[in-house]
Amino acid sequence: MVSAEPPLQLESKNVCVVGAGMAGMAAARELRREGHVVTVMEQRGDVGGQWLYDPRTDDDGLLEAGAAPVRVHSSMYACLRLISPREAMGFSDFQFFPREGVAGRDPRRFPTHREVYCYLWEFCHAFGLADAVRLHTRVTRVAAVPTSSTHQWAVRTVHLGGTGTDEEEKEEVFDAVVVATGHYSQPKLPTINGMEDWRRRQLHSHSYRTPEPFRGEVVVMIGCGDSGKDIALDLRRVAKEVHLTAKSMEEAMTPAMSKMLANHANLHLHPQIDRLYADGRVAFADGSSVDADTVMYCTGYTYSFTFLDTGGAVTVDDNRVGPLFEHVFPPSLAPSLSFVGIPRKVLVPWFFEAQGKWVAQVLSGRRALPPEEEMLRSVEEYYRAREAAGVPKKYTHDIAGVDPEKMYEFREKYCDFARIEDWKIELLVSIIANMNDDMETFRDREDDGENVRKGLQRWHAAAAQAQDQNYGCCG
Ligand SMILES: Cc1cc2nc3c(=O)[nH]c(=O)nc-3n(C[C@H](O)[C@H](O)[C@H](O)COP(=O)(O)OP(=O)(O)OC[C@H]3O[C@@H](n4cnc5c(N)ncnc54)[C@H](O)[C@@H]3O)c2cc1C
Repeated sequence: MVSAEPPLQLESKNVCVVGAGMAGMAAARELRREGHVVTVMEQRGDVGGQWLYDPRTDDDGLLEAGAAPVRVHSSMYACLRLISPREAMGFSDFQFFPREGVAGRDPRRFPTHREVYCYLWEFCHAFGLADAVRLHTRVTRVAAVPTSSTHQWAVRTVHLGGTGTDEEEKEEVFDAVVVATGHYSQPKLPTINGMEDWRRRQLHSHSYRTPEPFRGEVVVMIGCGDSGKDIALDLRRVAKEVHLTAKSMEEAMTPAMSKMLANHANLHLHPQIDRLYADGRVAFADGSSVDADTVMYCTGYTYSFTFLDTGGAVTVDDNRVGPLFEHVFPPSLAPSLSFVGIPRKVLVPWFFEAQGKWVAQVLSGRRALPPEEEMLRSVEEYYRAREAAGVPKKYTHDIAGVDPEKMYEFREKYCDFARIEDWKIELLVSIIANMNDDMETFRDREDDGENVRKGLQRWHAAAAQAQDQNYGCCG
């Protein structure tokens, strides 16, 4: 006779999730599903994180503010459309289907930012998560409870009044904390000769919303990544001249860049800036210069966890948050402290769902982590492999950009999720090629291959069924 395995005794923990963006909502659902008690602290008045557009900006005193925490969380600009296709992004059981025929919705493959907000809002309500979220609640400190042998955490919050002023401070103890506060808010600024002397406007793309304030201006943009190019195309409609600058002209001059420059006479590309002058002159490394009204830094963001006190167990160094086993668990504090949403350039919320599920199952005891020393060794090996491959430290958490296979493997390895369908990978590969070919048209091209078209037919058939389900509509 075969003896049956005894049923697994799963533990239910009292878990605090910090942040109700994509990562926080993904984690909250998985934690609840696994039987944990969940409280999500969110400083803003709604869920959605970056996708909850905020017309306010942090633009005053860019340099004076230095590394001070930003007051406005979202960096979304008004015209933003996704660069990732909705078909490859969604939660495994709550796809990012278009809401055909619903007023105010955007059914396109690459919709506007509001469509993503609506999708997250609907996710939150479809899975009954709204009652777990405490809005207008900012976490100001997370620290280990000194007397606790089981790594409990004291979480201090302030309830933000309607005027944005801090009110009502309180402290609660949780068995575990999941940090899901995002990393597209805190500007990363380069050091440029003369930037302290510059008297005219300078801002980071974090504070860019619409082109109107730059009407008739000469704008110099530092950095020409995806956001830099996107904003330049928005600005050039009203600005007199837009000057993009690049560290490497060779790398910047993709077919997409050549087309942008050929299509728009007021767009220019220069090598990096040599110096900014108090009189408004901007000198470039090749000796040329322009007289500019505004300098905009499209130089990316930095990880920042000002509320988190781990006694040095987790640090941020040149955009490396570490040590983190698989970008999630700090070995010495695992599993009671975890991070969901650290990786960059991954498919989201698709990837965050897996991270959240892993955390939930480790906390319940359904899955085990390796011993602390083994996790540390794995982190060190990962750092060494990246270094050997010539990947700079600041790209530690870029997974898909360096090795997309690692992103696909994660869900199978830690969550037993099915492998991503081939047609979705094919779609992603063709989109990257299209984007490098023409930044202005890639979102509206209709040149899917046969395999992708067949996959899409199945996906849209499932969408038609889902449309009939009544889970509320953000509209
Ligand atoms: C301009 C721009 C364009 C982008 N385009 C794309 C795209 O096309 N495709 C794509 O996949 N990704 C894109 N992204 C990245 C996208 O933002 C992330 O993939 C994803 O939304 C991150 O989700 P998150 O939950 O980790 O962080 P966030 O969305 O930033 O959410 C974090 C939440 O935590 C809250 N929070 C922070 N600190 C505290 C605190 N102390 N107390 C309480 N709450 C706190 C915040 O208010 C926020 O609600 C873009 C980002 C930007 C800025």
